[in-house]
Amino acid sequence: MLTQIQMEKFAELAVLVGANMQKDQMVVIRCDVQCKDFAHLIAEKAYQFGAKKVIVQWRDEVLSRLTMLNASKETLCEVPDYQIAQSQYFIDNKVCLISISAGNPNIFKGCDPEKLAASNIAGAKAMANFRKATMSNYLRWTIVSIPTPAWAKQVFPDLSEQEGMDKMWDAIGHIMRLDQEDPTEAWRKHIATLHRRADFLNAHNFEYIHLTNKHGTDLRVGLAVDHVWLAAEEEGQDGLPFTANMPTEEIFTAPHNKKIDGTVVNALPLVNNGTIIDNFKLTFKDGKVVDYSAEVGYEALKGLLSTDEGVLSLGEIALIGKNSPIAESGILFFNTLFDENASCHLAFGASYPTTVKGGNDMDEKALAEHGMNTSLQHVDFMIGTKDIDIDGIDHDGNVTPLFRDGEWVI
Ligand code: ZN
Ligand code: ZN
Repeated sequence: MLTQIQMEKFAELAVLVGANMQKDQMVVIRCDVQCKDFAHLIAEKAYQFGAKKVIVQWRDEVLSRLTMLNASKETLCEVPDYQIAQSQYFIDNKVCLISISAGNPNIFKGCDPEKLAASNIAGAKAMANFRKATMSNYLRWTIVSIPTPAWAKQVFPDLSEQEGMDKMWDAIGHIMRLDQEDPTEAWRKHIATLHRRADFLNAHNFEYIHLTNKHGTDLRVGLAVDHVWLAAEEEGQDGLPFTANMPTEEIFTAPHNKKIDGTVVNALPLVNNGTIIDNFKLTFKDGKVVDYSAEVGYEALKGLLSTDEGVLSLGEIALIGKNSPIAESGILFFNTLFDENASCHLAFGASYPTTVKGGNDMDEKALAEHGMNTSLQHVDFMIGTKDIDIDGIDHDGNVTPLFRDGEWVI
């Protein structure tokens, strides 16, 4: 368990480093009712640092499940006007948003997949304005996480609920650097290190990234034209920095979707829509998967790879050293906030427009000309083994070592 002081530091991190809340700003906290104590603590800190007003949007996963099971598809697809008006009010008042991502990864197990998909799409469409305001950094936002009992049970099925919760708290405390003397300072240092490396990668403007290990990975990933390596801190449209994911360990950019060749073997299981895919191997030619195998979950992989044309190529390459606290923990969290920060990864499917210079202002055609990939999917899978070697190759063929034996050498 964390001490009261550590919990307060955690809440401070969310307010100051994550959302970078400014004096007299309105704050919106989104969280499940199970996390009410932590939400109260964040609200207290926000007021202490001068928030104008704190509004909490309570979620209740148990109620969500009951509604999903019992309400009709039509009802689930109705988004009431007052909810749309509320999110417009948040945009108009330039709130900063703090989301607590915590809950049972299997909460909708056994629910009708068609109802689930339909209500998700209806919700996403109705809230398109708000999504745009966060994805384009018009609003500053952050996601943090704390354990909940059902989630801890999923991560540690062999432990009692209490033991599982204690273990999750210890792990998250360490990952969030709350066991260090000054967590805020530790985060500022960590962010500076990530940015130094991203600057190094950007300055070299590599044409290819070459990944090899003893498990069969030998992959050349071409990078998008005018690609940008991003890390940790982003800039809001008002020029103020914020950190959208806490924790964050990755430095990532967009591959060129016609220049990926070779073979890659996964390092950690891929959990996709509640199914585990493991011991899989993909062969790429000219940017596309041309052959694949999986010892576990072959059918699920096949299903994923038949979504559309774009899913056969890659939308992200992210580099993370094996000595990052999440990787060291060795825990599979079944939660993207943690799992994608545990290991070097690639993503099947869409790339982020922000990973190419001026990408936010480009149309689809321009993005495609830069080698940016489009798909309905964006699914990360982990490839960073403890022995992975990674080189950057520039346009003149010069080779720069980036990783040796799973860790950064720059
Ligand atoms: Zn990533
Ligand atoms: Zn990703």
